[in-house]
Amino acid sequence: MIERLCLIGMGLIGGSIAKTARKKQLCRSAVGFDQNYEATLKAKALGVIDVAADVMIDAVRGADLVIISTPVGAMESILRKLKASWSDTAVYTDVGSTKVSIVNAARAVFGDVPANFIPGHPIAGAELSGVEAAIEDLFENKRVILTPLPVSSTQHLARVRDFWGAVGASVSEMTADHHDAVLAATSHFPHLLAFALTDLLGRKDEKKEILKFAAGGFKDFSRIASSDPGMWRDICLANSGAILPLIEEFQRELERISQVIEAHEGEDLLQIFSSAGLARGRFLEQYSNI
Ligand code: NAP
Repeated sequence: MIERLCLIGMGLIGGSIAKTARKKQLCRSAVGFDQNYEATLKAKALGVIDVAADVMIDAVRGADLVIISTPVGAMESILRKLKASWSDTAVYTDVGSTKVSIVNAARAVFGDVPANFIPGHPIAGAELSGVEAAIEDLFENKRVILTPLPVSSTQHLARVRDFWGAVGASVSEMTADHHDAVLAATSHFPHLLAFALTDLLGRKDEKKEILKFAAGGFKDFSRIASSDPGMWRDICLANSGAILPLIEEFQRELERISQVIEAHEGEDLLQIFSSAGLARGRFLEQYSNI
């Protein structure tokens, strides 16, 4: 049992963690802190946390598990603020969607990643933001990736693993580099495509009202373009090393498809579409239940 769970960043993810931990009685008390005290007070009023802290140092004091659940771009400054009161007995983790940037931020602040800071990323979320969007069973049967380093303490790693397991998630471990390459392909780049196409069509729509006639396919495709723009700016900048090569690869793929269409190569087009359908079928069969 965690005595005092501390969430820094009272948004969708921080709020969902606190809600779940309290419902499943994984902690005796959950304390929240956010740069916006209104959000922390709202979390308290909604029953998401037990204690609303208006100063970060008060939130972390006496905590045995500290989870940083702010946008990726804020992590370094938070680690810098936490440094003065860093406790060797507490365990610290984060939920950021990129991992190399977080490891680098910890190195910049501490010289090396502290043994009791275990970087993590729950692969669960929504296109909504803020504590009012927090969902109790958000992590149930979802994956969480931890990216421990050789310097990480096995005891602290086990505590973070156990916490996420108790929350209902299935925990995997990999290097931060591998995490960023994998997530760039399956999450970061698809979000970027959704933002780019929806922005393009939105600008066209001003003159041609094309979205008036958009159907379910466009609604499905564009759903993730409703995600928080600031959060996704941070993610794309933090993981540019993995995202930029994918953009180039995709440009080549579009070029190939464009040539096939121009040449009226129906068979080639059919082959591309069929192989995409088979790839999606394999994904649904093997992985979509978690
Ligand atoms: P969110 O709903 O926008 O919540 C983030 C909260 O952190 C906001 O209340 C924000 O305040 C606050 N914050 C920002 N900078 C801060 C600082 N320096 N100190 C204290 N609080 C600060 O975002 P979220 O969806 O929960 O995402 C949080 C993290 O989870 C991100 O790193 C994201 O990459 C990761 N993640 C998100 C998802 C998803 O689907 N949403 C999934 C997995 C992981 P303001 O509103 O005032 O900026």
